[in-house]
Amino acid sequence: MNIKYYGEYGGCFVPELLIPPLQETEDAMRNIMPTQKFQDELNDLLVNYAGRETPLTFCPTLSKELGFNLWLKREDLVHTGAHKMNNTLGQGLLAKYMGKTCLVAETGAGQHGVATAATAARLGMKCVIYMGAEDVERQAMNVMRMRVFGAEVHAVETGTRTLKDAINEALRAWISCQETTHYCFGTAAGPHPFPELVAEFQSVIGRETRAQCLQKFGKLPDVVVACVGGGSNSIGMFRGFLDDKDVRIIGVEAAGTGEPGCFNSAALNLGSPGVLHGNRTMLLQNEDGQIEPSHSVSAGLDYPGVGPEHVNLMVTGRVHYGMVKDARALAGFDRLSRSEGILPALESSHALAWVFDHPDELPKGGNVVVCLSGRGDKDMGIVKKYLGAQYGFGDESVEG
Ligand SMILES: *Cc1c(COP(=O)(O)O)cnc(C)c1O
Repeated sequence: MNIKYYGEYGGCFVPELLIPPLQETEDAMRNIMPTQKFQDELNDLLVNYAGRETPLTFCPTLSKELGFNLWLKREDLVHTGAHKMNNTLGQGLLAKYMGKTCLVAETGAGQHGVATAATAARLGMKCVIYMGAEDVERQAMNVMRMRVFGAEVHAVETGTRTLKDAINEALRAWISCQETTHYCFGTAAGPHPFPELVAEFQSVIGRETRAQCLQKFGKLPDVVVACVGGGSNSIGMFRGFLDDKDVRIIGVEAAGTGEPGCFNSAALNLGSPGVLHGNRTMLLQNEDGQIEPSHSVSAGLDYPGVGPEHVNLMVTGRVHYGMVKDARALAGFDRLSRSEGILPALESSHALAWVFDHPDELPKGGNVVVCLSGRGDKDMGIVKKYLGAQYGFGDESVEG
């Protein structure tokens, strides 16, 4: 294997039995992915099934209030409601070209599971999803959606019964079914070649955004902002601008409640180096190297690690990584909804909140692009729990 590192981060630290399927995936990435036939077929799916290209939407009300032009890259309009499908369609199609008949995937909040299940249904493949038992209980509607698309959903009872355990279990399952199955990893992390593979499939976001900026306002944006969970929507956006030294790039992590010692999902800002899920990266871990439970109000940012390319972008100083607390993300959610009639996912609301809360760091009269990674319809239960009173709900029990 030609193992990719991002500075000192990345790599492929896995049991030997996982090397053959990772090698096969790397070969496909090198030999199948660049072919015109594959690219044409993927593009057809992205356009006619997933709804690309997504708009770059100007926000008139907020731009007036903020004193700069705010633009949103509308990944919320991608089929199934987030950027996840750029990756699942890419990997699903690649798996088909590799002769696989089944997709296995992990999911935390359920968004990646839903996108993988829909992709498998569309491509005529079998689909098996591993999900922490705790998440299966918390995300019942997404479990339902996966099953409606024909996927098998396995509740993982090990460890903290959440995402990190689901990834371990899916990797384990892949060992015994690698002949027929591709592991459709959900973010730009994990063992080589996944950080590169997922970033490639998500970089459609940055490519489109770059062209749309040039077309709509005749130059590159001054600032580009995206939220960072595992780091896939953000790396997809950032890759469109990394070589443009005048474009300031900002990633936003979830700081949780923000109380001292609280659980959070800010591996870059608050973590330390270590190995998790087959790559060297920054992790939320205790002094003994045990993974700390992560927390964010947005389930999709709730991952104790982060993609290795982001660590390198932080270390080299190319990208600044900020943090936003739960309460500010909720305020950002409210402000965009009310001002522009767009309901952002709570994950994306972290990126918005960073922009709303740092007006002095943003250029007056300039152009700021935020990656709106997903839509907020899935988050109504949580919004009702935290902001219910503000929207006229009393103390009645909260669903979702
Ligand atoms: C999954 C998800 C994220 C976080 O994942 P990344 O890999 O960091 O992009 C962000 N936003 C939405 C809407 C998601 O569903």
